[in-house]
Amino acid sequence: MPNYHIWTIGCQMNKAESEQLGSLFEHIGYRATDTAENADVIILNSCVVRQSAENRVVNKIRALHPFARAHPDITLAVTGCLVNSDTAKLKKDFPHVDYFFKPGDYPPWLEKPAALATLPQNPSPTVYVPIIQGCNNFCTYCIVPYRRGREVSRPVTEIACEVKGLIGRGAKEVTLLGQNVDSYGHDLPDKPDLADLLQELNAIDSLARIRFLTNHPKDMSVKLIDAIAKLDKVCEQIYLPVQSGSDDILKLMRRGYIAAQYRQLVKRIRDTVPGVALSTDVIVGFSSETGSQFQATVNLLSELRFDTVHVAVYSPRPGTIASRELEDDIPPAVKKERLNIIEQLQEKIAAEINEQLLGSTVEILVESRVKGKWQGRTRTGKLAFFSDSRDYLGQLINIRVEKTSPWSLQGTVSKTK
Ligand code: SF4
Repeated sequence: MPNYHIWTIGCQMNKAESEQLGSLFEHIGYRATDTAENADVIILNSCVVRQSAENRVVNKIRALHPFARAHPDITLAVTGCLVNSDTAKLKKDFPHVDYFFKPGDYPPWLEKPAALATLPQNPSPTVYVPIIQGCNNFCTYCIVPYRRGREVSRPVTEIACEVKGLIGRGAKEVTLLGQNVDSYGHDLPDKPDLADLLQELNAIDSLARIRFLTNHPKDMSVKLIDAIAKLDKVCEQIYLPVQSGSDDILKLMRRGYIAAQYRQLVKRIRDTVPGVALSTDVIVGFSSETGSQFQATVNLLSELRFDTVHVAVYSPRPGTIASRELEDDIPPAVKKERLNIIEQLQEKIAAEINEQLLGSTVEILVESRVKGKWQGRTRTGKLAFFSDSRDYLGQLINIRVEKTSPWSLQGTVSKTK
């Protein structure tokens, strides 16, 4: 039986696509192997969202050069965000790579059969399902639209069919993925939106939970917020990147909203969806960011008190608008200092938010067992651990929270559902 090896870095989208590729290989009779050196087919699923990620990808491709040269019978293919329309240049730079293909745009030897045939036989209790590829926004710092292309949505029926198939094989929770899930459906004939899709999926028997990411503050609709509140399987967790609390910086980033609009949106979400957990992304040290503009971000985070904040230091990506038109003029030490300030602030806020759960009972879906401890997530996406000798994999259980940290909860089983 031939072997395949898939190396993946990057976002959940890449992980979901690698899972799909893996299922496809299994379907055509291949077996997974942990090392590239034992594989007949090697796939590198790349990410270039940051320079460091792109460097890792390039190093990985180069590292495989001697192996590929010594074994001309193996197939080496690269997919993911490194692959743009100019594959001729990639082929010239990396002649030992046999194929470059865009995500979902499989080469002829890997023709994709009907979606259901490629579903994993034993999926994890929590699965990722891409619903829209690409992005039509051009945030000035972001390389994604250039690499993933324009938005292309999958039809509701196709997504529902895939989710039913995964649930039929044991999955309990689905996370719908897209660079901007709020754009979902605008390119489809009947123009369904994310709220319509959620309504359809909510009706699937045995599906326990639905999540989705990532939302865009300029596109998130009232209809969607109402749907989150109304549909019982849709979890109270929203990932809404703000990027900056300064209107001037938001304008330079071309995000399409100002901080006051973002604050109003958060208020509406919190008024409509009680107990909702909010996550956000922030970039510090963007071009020309002054001390007071940075302080506006700190103020916004202090005021809105997110459950999770992912903070990144700005670094220009070649090919983006910002790299062409804006100067990367904030010294690295200042960027680092701003990063530390936000990390420390958020650690304190997250610790306080999670502390409020001490002594309460929360429902978790058990996803895995790591180093003897079961782990799962609450509906609000909080990681929770407990120890118990019984088998809980894939079960929805209640745990009583006995310990909290900024990053997770610990407890004991209170009652299985
Ligand atoms: S919304 Fe902006 S940051 Fe997000 S993928 Fe699109 S261009 Fe990039």
